[in-house]
Amino acid sequence: MSDCLFCAIVRGDIPADVVLRTDRVIAFRDITPQAPVHVLVIPVDHHPDVPSAALADPVLGAELLQAAAQVAVAEGVSDSGYRLVANTGSHGGQTVHHAHLHVLGGRGLTWPPG
Ligand code: AMP
Ligand code: ZN
Repeated sequence: MSDCLFCAIVRGDIPADVVLRTDRVIAFRDITPQAPVHVLVIPVDHHPDVPSAALADPVLGAELLQAAAQVAVAEGVSDSGYRLVANTGSHGGQTVHHAHLHVLGGRGLTWPPG
């Protein structure tokens, strides 16, 4: 989509600190990190949110989770633990409407979220 921020990152029109890339998934550091490790995992193809992506392409849903697990290992938080977040829709607090998983770690995270 031409007016989508994360599609622009996929195209390389907007720079990103990429930590993992496959032909179907890209992971890059969040520009406003909320934890010492804060990486976004997105599909190359545009989908409006993670559940929609998984419904449209179940293998892609699995690939997003696999990439998140690989990021956690690469970032050194797989043993200490981390949180995967898929903010979805207005009440979910989603602000960028291209599917993305947040990988958050490197400190103890509170629960429940706000
Ligand atoms: P959400 O609120 O779940 O839709 O998450 C969107 C995330 O995208 C936020 O955590 C933003 O900080 C992040 N973000 C926005 N613009 C950029 C960018 N250019 N590069 C990296 N992360 C971004
Ligand atoms: Zn997009």
